[in-house]
Amino acid sequence: MFSYRHAFHAGNHADVLKHTVLIAALQYLTEKDAALTVLDTHAGAGLYRLDGDYAKTSAEAADGILRLAAASASTPLTPALQAYLELVRSFNTGHSTKVYPGSPFIIQHLLRAHDKLKLFELHPSDMRSLAGNVAQLEAGRQVAVLHEDGFEGIKKFLPPPARRALVLCDPSYEIKSDYGKVLDMVQDSLKRFATGTYAVWYPIIPRPEAHDLPRRLKTMAQKAGKSWLHATLTVKSSKITETLEGQTKRPGLPASGMFLINPPHTLKAALKDALPQMATLLAQDKHATHTLESGS
Ligand code: SAM
Repeated sequence: MFSYRHAFHAGNHADVLKHTVLIAALQYLTEKDAALTVLDTHAGAGLYRLDGDYAKTSAEAADGILRLAAASASTPLTPALQAYLELVRSFNTGHSTKVYPGSPFIIQHLLRAHDKLKLFELHPSDMRSLAGNVAQLEAGRQVAVLHEDGFEGIKKFLPPPARRALVLCDPSYEIKSDYGKVLDMVQDSLKRFATGTYAVWYPIIPRPEAHDLPRRLKTMAQKAGKSWLHATLTVKSSKITETLEGQTKRPGLPASGMFLINPPHTLKAALKDALPQMATLLAQDKHATHTLESGS
């Protein structure tokens, strides 16, 4: 069984990037009246306590959402980051940030009554937490929680009834085969439903598969004649350093990216403003930077 638990990482810089992109995309996709189906292939537990044991152990949110929240007191945030912060704050009282909504709750918050959300989660305890958290929503038949492999499970929902869908694919990449599975899933999904919006998060780490993933998604989009957008956020150097005691120190996740096929046409402008501010506010050293590329 996997050891990855998103509770250790909730609200970190990668979540800031992923969830800001997710919110900006959903704001656009929910402007049209027609029903939207959202498929979250790797849902996680749904809600996280930033003052709980998991988050306190890693303290990753301190360099992510909490830094952004603190900066917002003196720095006006760009609209996409402000929308992200406001959405997170809507799960909290006052200006304290103790609860962090994962992708299932961010998505559900933005959906209209006639939209649908399908959540896939394989880990038994995250699945239990997710099902319990979703039950509190009393969202009825709008939200389905499925204890299934998201890579396979989404097939039965594509194409969706109203032919409008967003697929968020956010694996932990704990196993190397996840990279290939993401590519197979996107390829297969484009055959089933060519006009869907596909959003893939991936870590930028020194591993060939991680390096290849965005390159191969771009080739796939280009071959299918689809528009694409690729955003990355780096917060620190990826160099392995040595401590004074001579021990090797790994930097933790230094950067991550979001690759979208059929992105909303408004997304690039939103990120053009938000990404430089993300890189400035979340910088952990002088290597912090961002990239934004798109094509059609
Ligand atoms: N998307 C969530 C968010 O933004 O809040 C975080 C998801 S976390 C990065 C990845 C999750 O996928 C973990 O909870 C893990 O247990 C789950 N998982 C791993 N392999 C899976 C699979 N094949 N299908 C569904 N869930 C899986």
